[in-house]
Formats: sequence, C-alpha cells, structure tokens
Amino acid sequence: MTRPLPDELLKVPHRRDVPFARLTTLGVGGLCRWLFEPTTELEAQAFVRACAREGLSWRVLGGGSNLVVLGDVEGPVLRLALPKVACREGRRFTAPASHGHIALAEAAAEAGLAGLEFASGIPGSLGGAIRMNAGAYGREWIDVLVRYRFLTPEGELVEKAPEPGEFTYRWSFLTGGRVVLSATAELADGNPATIRAKVAEYREKRGTSQPLSRRNAGCIFKNPPGQSAGRLIDQAGLKGLRVGDAEVSPEHANFLVNHGHATAAEFAELMDRVQAAVLERWGVALEAEVEIWRDDPGASLQGH
Ligand SMILES: Cc1cc2nc3c(=O)[nH]c(=O)nc-3n(C[C@H](O)[C@H](O)[C@H](O)COP(=O)(O)OP(=O)(O)OC[C@H]3O[C@@H](n4cnc5c(N)ncnc54)[C@H](O)[C@@H]3O)c2cc1C
Repeated sequence: MTRPLPDELLKVPHRRDVPFARLTTLGVGGLCRWLFEPTTELEAQAFVRACAREGLSWRVLGGGSNLVVLGDVEGPVLRLALPKVACREGRRFTAPASHGHIALAEAAAEAGLAGLEFASGIPGSLGGAIRMNAGAYGREWIDVLVRYRFLTPEGELVEKAPEPGEFTYRWSFLTGGRVVLSATAELADGNPATIRAKVAEYREKRGTSQPLSRRNAGCIFKNPPGQSAGRLIDQAGLKGLRVGDAEVSPEHANFLVNHGHATAAEFAELMDRVQAAVLERWGVALEAEVEIWRDDPGASLQGH
C-alpha cells in the first residue's frame, strides 16, 4: 500500500533514498526512503506537527553513532540540520542539537572552559548525546546540563531546566517523538593546557582499548547487572568471530566492526550468534545497548 505525504511535510527540506551506510558510523543498513533535514527550529516544528496530524510514525536521527539499521526505513526520518554555531555567555555554552559532539567539547576546551572533557571522544551529535545522557570516565551530560529546548510529540516547543528523573544512566525521557533542539552546559573556568591534557589522556585511553580504525557503533550490548558484556563475550571465545565483513573486534569484544563491506544481514546474524553463544556459555541474555532500526512493516510513502 502507498500513502501520500501531506504538502506541509514536503515543504520541509528532504532527500530521498539515502543509504544508511552514509548516515551511521557503523556504515550498514538499507535506504532511508525519506530523510527530512530542517534547517530551522520552525521547519522542525512543522515536520513534527504534520506527522502528528497525519498520525505518521517517524524517527529522529543524529550522528548515527549509536544505531544499527537492519534494512530500508520507509517512514520519515528527521535529522536536524540547524546551523552548527555554539555560543558562550560567561561560563554557559549553548549549541544546537545538530552540533557535532566532539567539536563542541573541543570548542569548550579552546575557550578555556572545563567540564566537557568527558565528551571529547564520544562521536555523534549534541542532540543524540542529550537524548542518551552520554557519558564517560565518571561524567555524563546531566552533570553539566542546565537548560535544554525540545519539541513535544505534538510539536510544542519547550525550554526548561532538567528535573529529577528526566536523565539517568544512558537514558533520558527525550524519546517517543520528543526532539532535542538545543542544550546549554554550565562549565567552569579552567586552564586550557590542563583541559587539553585531560582530553589527550582520555583519547589515549580510547585509542588503546577501542578498535577506532574500523567503522563501529561503540558498545553493542549493555553490561548486565554487575558484569561486563565485553568480558562475557571474550570469555565465550568470540573475539574475532566473523560473518562476512562483520566481526567481533579482537581488541574489544563488545565492539562489532565493519571491515568495509558488511551488510545489515551479516550484522544481524553476528549479533544473534553472540547473544546465543553468551546465553549458552553463561546463561546471560545480552540486551542491545545500541538502538536497532528494522524494516518498517507499514505502508510506503509517496510524494506528489
Ligand atoms: C567509537 C564510539 C565510542 C563511543 N563511546 C561512547 C561513550 O564513551 N559514552 C557514551 O555514552 N556513548 C558512546 N558511544 C555511543 C554514541 O556515540 C552516543 O550514544 C551518542 O551520544 C549518540 O549520538 P548520535 O547523535 O550519534 O545519536 P544517534 O545514534 O543518531 O541516535 C541515538 C538515539 O538518539 C536519538 N536522537 C538523536 N538525535 C536526537 C534529537 N535531536 N532529539 C531526540 N532524540 C535524538 C535517536 O532517535 C536514537 O534513539 C560511542 C560510539 C562510538 C561509535
């Protein structure tokens, strides 16, 4: 069945049939049939309102660094293309959700502001990082976040300070059709040399423990309570397990890497095989940490 898209939606800048291989760090997936890339908050709002009115289900994409796409996606996908300009007011740093996450950490360091060093090795966009409450080395976004703007699933614009319960470990309530538009961090005055040294130390740690020379999506499985997913996978003898061009990294067992031409089907099979082997060996059911997008069963959409 084919369903026509409303005119208000088609006014928002969009592209057709974009391969997810170009939209994600892992570099696999089918086609993104409808990629909407609003360049203003108003266009983003028009997108959300039009989808809400039509009862269309849609998804939001950031830098695609926490995502495994396992087929074509027929429904609309929103990827903000707001101008990537960060602005500083005193110790506060505000940036649009489409701003590169690592670039933001670097800009804060350049400005002599401390507090975002943890973010300096986490790829993707600021919006994805806020949504995921991304963090590393004992710090996470909620430690510095003081205000954020987002759209509700109905397209209302809200600006507020974070409240208890809205952000927890690698989770926030900004799901289910909420779209982060921008965020403000409260940072501290710091010595640029000290900040740069910390950034270099964190990067060095990542460089020696993660397979950064191959395309990947970060840690694939969540750590089960009190255990390390990487260790369970490693001790099940799975490092180096390969399906086509998809492989369990020999350097870090919780990273699955793309040797260049891996397909979505190969990744799906590799993930299944890792989960089955860990269940059989340790009796532990591993859950995905990355978000997985599979083919939508819904109708295909048509412009006119
Ligand atoms: C090499 C590597 C290392 C990593 N290391 C870390 C780490 O140390 N710590 C860590 O926390 N993560 C890490 N990650 C995972 C990932 O980088 C983070 O989760 C990142 O914050 C995701 O941002 P993104 O823009 O790429 O989001 P995407 O992957 O595009 O999307 C992730 C989720 O966020 C949602 N989303 C994206 N943008 C928005 C928005 N504007 N509004 C609402 N929802 C949105 C998507 O719908 C999806 O649910 C790593 C990944 C890689 C590849």
